Amino acid sequence: MSAFEEDHSLQSFAFHTTPHLVFEPGSTARLAAIAGRKLGASVLFVTDPGLRRLGLCDAALASLTQAGHSVGVFDAVEADPSLDTVLKAVEAGRSMAATGVVGFGGGSSLDVAKVAALLLGSGEEIDGAWGVGNAKGPRLPLVLVPTTAGTGSEVTPVSIITVGAEEKRGVSSPIILPDIAILDASLTLGLPPAITAATGVDAMVHAIEAYASKNANNNPLSKMLARQALQLLGANIEKAVFDGGDVDARGAMLLGSMLAGQAFANSPVAAVHALAYPIGGTFHVPHGLSNALVLPHVLRFNAPDAAQLYAEIAADAFPDLAKEQGSQGRCAAFIEALAALSKKLGMQTRLREVGIGEEHLAKMASDAMKQQRLLVNNPRDVSEADALAIYKAAW
Ligand SMILES: [Zn+2]
Repeated sequence: MSAFEEDHSLQSFAFHTTPHLVFEPGSTARLAAIAGRKLGASVLFVTDPGLRRLGLCDAALASLTQAGHSVGVFDAVEADPSLDTVLKAVEAGRSMAATGVVGFGGGSSLDVAKVAALLLGSGEEIDGAWGVGNAKGPRLPLVLVPTTAGTGSEVTPVSIITVGAEEKRGVSSPIILPDIAILDASLTLGLPPAITAATGVDAMVHAIEAYASKNANNNPLSKMLARQALQLLGANIEKAVFDGGDVDARGAMLLGSMLAGQAFANSPVAAVHALAYPIGGTFHVPHGLSNALVLPHVLRFNAPDAAQLYAEIAADAFPDLAKEQGSQGRCAAFIEALAALSKKLGMQTRLREVGIGEEHLAKMASDAMKQQRLLVNNPRDVSEADALAIYKAAW
């Protein structure tokens, strides 16, 4: 093999992201000026009842109505949104002849807005759109406004919807990337510390897993974005958790989670997420906390094959680690620093602390094996026995 072939930065790849990004505190008060022409006369505004009650949508809605748009608000999005909710949002859009869709909220509202814009724009059936690359489009014009800093959903081509009691299905296609993402840090000032911590660690996991992903499309852009994300997230997560009113720290978290989103949208996540899903799905532990609970244990398992990669990004997240000599030592210090961070942020750190009995671990390990689409990206192969050992270590 020549040096040219060995250099990963010269492998073929494709990179998709949201084409128009606005990062500006208070910018949702200018929503119509930024996005009005794109959205057209009749705007379906998708959000959740909590944000509506808190008045967080008011400036955005006033901006649209004052500019002469007719606006229909669909504010019935729940956590882990159901297919039923998506279809109701589509119905609301149809009845008002929507010309554009705004998704405003956490990952759930953005996911519903993505699929609603697709179904409204193309008239296609959801059953043909599940999976990777099956959406036909075109979708309606779509603008996404995140109000949490973690999922990066405003720059990912994926929407996760719950079908039936607890089956999660995804639509994955660049077609559902929005036209515009608006990052308004003032919307995140009121997030409570526990949510700020969990979503912030989730964003760090996105960056770490994207950087070390074995996926064939891992690429220099994702690696660069992951490192920049870790610098912003590592430097600001404690400030954002302990002083939620610090708008600069909030902005850094929002930007960092978007950069991590751009990274993993094109270099997908791996075993931390695969092992987190059975924790979230069965025990209803929030996504970010589920990731944090297994994070140090999965990285320790991966270290024999990924120490070099983890050592490369260690000092991005924790600048003190630059003094650690050698990739083995720096990797080990990185993993310890991540474990210490969760503790410092006041998060639970053991599976037993979130109500999971030891007798559940075997079933969780077998459930984690169903996440092959994620496990194939892991730097080290994970067997069911390995997954069980990781859960035991995390218990
Ligand atoms: Zn995640």
